[in-house]
Amino acid sequence: MHTEPLLLTPGPLTTSAQTKRAMLRDWGSWDVDFNQLTADIGAYLLACANATETHVCVPMQGSGTFAVEATLGTLIAPTSKTLVLSNGAYGQRMETILQYLQRPTVVLPSDGVQLPSSADIEHCLRTHPDIAQVAVVHCETSSGMLNPLEEIAALAARYQKHLIIDSMSAFGAVPIDAQKLPFAALVSSANKCFEGVPGFGFVLVERQLLSASAGQSHSLAMDLYDQWQYMQRTGQWRFTPPTHVVAAFHTALEQHRAEGGVPARHARYARNRDRLVEGLRQQGFATLLSDAWLSPIITTFLSPTDPRFTFSQFYALIKAQGFLIYPGKLTTQETFRIGHIGQLHDADIDRLLTVVASALDTMGITQVTQNTPISA
Ligand SMILES: *Cc1c(COP(=O)(O)O)cnc(C)c1O
Repeated sequence: MHTEPLLLTPGPLTTSAQTKRAMLRDWGSWDVDFNQLTADIGAYLLACANATETHVCVPMQGSGTFAVEATLGTLIAPTSKTLVLSNGAYGQRMETILQYLQRPTVVLPSDGVQLPSSADIEHCLRTHPDIAQVAVVHCETSSGMLNPLEEIAALAARYQKHLIIDSMSAFGAVPIDAQKLPFAALVSSANKCFEGVPGFGFVLVERQLLSASAGQSHSLAMDLYDQWQYMQRTGQWRFTPPTHVVAAFHTALEQHRAEGGVPARHARYARNRDRLVEGLRQQGFATLLSDAWLSPIITTFLSPTDPRFTFSQFYALIKAQGFLIYPGKLTTQETFRIGHIGQLHDADIDRLLTVVASALDTMGITQVTQNTPISA
């Protein structure tokens, strides 16, 4: 077990031994004991977002994208128009899902990694009064950018649009309060900041809105309304749940609570980031984004311009020392990403910094220089 690498990736991520051990038992998916796990999980997640009074929590089997697709397909009526604010791969994915579902969209693309300006968003909402909902990613994991959600939520509220948030990689570690930042739906999954293992996603969705969404889904298996109705009636998932994953998630949530909930997890992840960014900057690396936009989830670094640098060798050298890092996901420039979520602590970051230094050494790179970032 001790040779298992640490995952510096934004989910799946490194989980605790306790969470892994929770999967060593089989559960009857119809049994009351298992139903209790599901009920506890929903209650805890709603409480984390101060959404108990206004929202319901509906889980959905599959990876996070399944939950996003279920949400968009269930909540958005076939002719209803959606404004997608996209500044990266996950914003683009929502756009693609809506295209598959043949739901009308307006897309305000960004130039680079920043979202469009508030003025542009407002102009768009004024010129398209038939937009019924705004969809946005909370932390755009492809760049590491933490989007200005408060600003967008305020605009959506002012123009009375439903706000649908892909908070996949942020919820659990970035505070959000449904009573202060109104949202129609927030989507996340088991294997991100709550530190579970992959297998299902979940949606916090306004009770009234979901109640009004019967019959809208394009898909039987992904009908969030039907999943909710069935669960309310029976306490069970509609179709076979990933029982071991749910049990592991239940344990992971107990650890989340014991650590001090969202504020404590935010603090640990932010510390990981600060330690990592400071350490790599000392070695000459630069971040893609300026400090104001860095998320506590994952950070994008510019690759050195030295021709001796290749990501594949860098990756392999770091892997040999027990860490898996992440390739960049930008088309515009050479980058790599390092995630700082999961069971990662000060000592792990410190060891990573020495491993990076020795990888550079092995590659013969004595000075790290890179092109100036083309974004903020
Ligand atoms: C991880 C992630 C998803 C979901 O990806 P899956 O591979 O389907 O789990 C969606 N949006 C964001 C922002 C993510 O970080």
